[in-house]
Amino acid sequence: MQELHARIEDKRDDLVRLTQDLIRIPTVNPPGDAYVPCAEFIGERLRRRGFQVLYLRGKGSPGDNDRYPRTNVVARIEGKQPGPCVHFNGHIDVVATGKGWTEDPFAGTVKDGKIYGRGACDMKGGLAASIVAVETLLEMGLDWPGAVEISGSVDEETGGYGGVAYLAKQGYFSKPRVDHVIIPEPLNPDRICLGHRGVWWAEVETFGHIAHGSMPFLGDCAVRHMGALLDRLERDLYPALAAKRTAMPVVPEGAKQSTLNINSIHGGLGEDFEGLPSALVPDSCRMVLDRRYLIEESYEEVKDEIMEILEALKRERPKFDYALKELWTVGPTMTERNAPVVQAVASEIERVLGKPAEYVVSPGTYDQKHVARIGHLHDCIAYGPGILDLAHQPDEFVGIDDMVASAKVMAAAALTLLGVQAG
Ligand SMILES: [Zn+2]
Repeated sequence: MQELHARIEDKRDDLVRLTQDLIRIPTVNPPGDAYVPCAEFIGERLRRRGFQVLYLRGKGSPGDNDRYPRTNVVARIEGKQPGPCVHFNGHIDVVATGKGWTEDPFAGTVKDGKIYGRGACDMKGGLAASIVAVETLLEMGLDWPGAVEISGSVDEETGGYGGVAYLAKQGYFSKPRVDHVIIPEPLNPDRICLGHRGVWWAEVETFGHIAHGSMPFLGDCAVRHMGALLDRLERDLYPALAAKRTAMPVVPEGAKQSTLNINSIHGGLGEDFEGLPSALVPDSCRMVLDRRYLIEESYEEVKDEIMEILEALKRERPKFDYALKELWTVGPTMTERNAPVVQAVASEIERVLGKPAEYVVSPGTYDQKHVARIGHLHDCIAYGPGILDLAHQPDEFVGIDDMVASAKVMAAAALTLLGVQAG
């Protein structure tokens, strides 16, 4: 293991350059810019090192068109004999830069041991660390069985449908092709992320009756009906959600309970009118709910909680009427602590960082959902060098020491999973 660690230390400059090169390809999503050059940059690098490289376009997935093709790269290299396959998956898309930057978001500036740029933390630094980890293994000339894969996938920031979901549907995240998956998302270099909470997005619309605003008694105000629903959520649902605690090790602490975010409310006149508003009683009000749920809860329970409140209002409140439209559901997922990938990464974290790994669960979903649900592969974790709190922030960065440390962990864990003793 000492030789492996020393070789990765020697590649520090290469790791920095690779991360900078990735940051300089502005793969902002939406709209899904520069996916092809980024996928080809990764693919060509790995092809030169002997990988078989495939470019797979998520044709027909949301946002896919000839201007913004959803192009993924999957690279695979075989060992000398058949055996298990370890797959490293990183998303290549980044979110918009937003305001507040003091560094150029696409320059990859290095300062005080950190690389700055959009995607440095989430997750081009992690992707680069996994690439250098695997390249180092190959250079050691070990006689290892099985196969190693590296993929750069698109659209994680918008649900992953043209990326990991598409690839999973084609069998790229299932046995017998793949056995173990590590996703180097930014969860801090000493943490193993076992999975994520569930999500249920729904839109509730309340209905009214349009009338002149000077005589609201002749109409029926949809916004007031929505107000009654909000009142019920405050009184009954929020305290009930706060009382539900999970045994999942979710971070941060506040996410160990069920949560509900009111994403948006729109009712009555649109916001873009000019001059004075017209005098109308609103006949429609729509609210989008973003409900995050725990492994102890079921999707049916989550939906029924809202339905019960709506039905009670219908019985109790004159003229109350509503429609509920479900927008998106993903169940919670959590890999077992005794799963091979968890054990392998945990013991290398302890060896490299000198402290036991911390097990966490993410408050929000990431591409593991597709690996678990579509690929039916449950030996999957997120483990990467970025600092969770910096994701999507201005002046996002990744620490170079953290990248080196996590590359050591990833390389050694891959060897363990392939069944090789590296001494
Ligand atoms: Zn990410």
